[in-house]
Amino acid sequence: IEDQLRQSQKMEAIGQLTGGLAHDFNNLLGVIIGNLDLLRDQPGNEPETADIIDQALEAALRGADLNRRLLAFARRQPLQPQRIDINALVARVAKLLARTLGETIEVRLSLAVDIGTGLADPTQLERALTNLAVNARDAMPQGGRLTIATHNVVLDADYAAVNQGVRGGDYVVLEITDSGTGMAPEVLARAFEPFFTTKEVGKGTGLGLSMVFGFAKQSGGHVKIYSEVGHGTTVRLFLPRTADETAGNTTAASGKETPLP
Ligand code: ADP
Repeated sequence: IEDQLRQSQKMEAIGQLTGGLAHDFNNLLGVIIGNLDLLRDQPGNEPETADIIDQALEAALRGADLNRRLLAFARRQPLQPQRIDINALVARVAKLLARTLGETIEVRLSLAVDIGTGLADPTQLERALTNLAVNARDAMPQGGRLTIATHNVVLDADYAAVNQGVRGGDYVVLEITDSGTGMAPEVLARAFEPFFTTKEVGKGTGLGLSMVFGFAKQSGGHVKIYSEVGHGTTVRLFLPRTADETAGNTTAASGKETPLP
């Protein structure tokens, strides 16, 4: 209950913090780069000095580039939610994953018919699926099976009441299941935490599931993880189901995108 709130706040906090710091760094790097530029243009520099200045300048410019990327991350590009044929998108991504995950991972699809369309930003949904697939792969170093399933579910008010932050209603569910190591309860409890990772340095950022969490929330959905050590993990991504074709046409005719709740 409070965990979910804390999670949203953390995501918010990280965005704010990153944005704030990146802004300060921008100013500092601006001063450093400006001064190095002046130094470099001094007449009569020793070749050795010129070399040192060039190196420092190069590093500062690299820092500025990194900083730009941080700012872009913190700004968190507003999502572009639209009606998506979820099954078609999943099939397309699965094909890509089958190729990129390696031969030891068998990718399976289990798509329910007529699940309708879901509301989400397609690029972000692809990213979320990819993050989840990479986690699944990492949990199956000896190889295994990755199943992506879709179906519809109606969550009633009772369900919403016991799952704080969850709205009742029609959802398209994307279910990503692996036959990997599974998560110990203490890992599962922290899995959504930004920067929480059990992977070695350079392998994990601890941001994959945070991204999935934030994406689901911003799409008006939510995400749940079921995991058992030694058996594997299932991640359920709930996205709001949009109105059926006829209702959808009315929406289209009015020229308005269905707004996010
Ligand atoms: P990262 O993958 O960079 O570590 P994530 O936020 O995606 O960051 O995941 C956090 C942690 O949750 C992982 O380090 C791992 O311990 C655990 N985890 C995530 N997905 C799975 C999975 N499918 N199976 C087992 N553990 C997982």
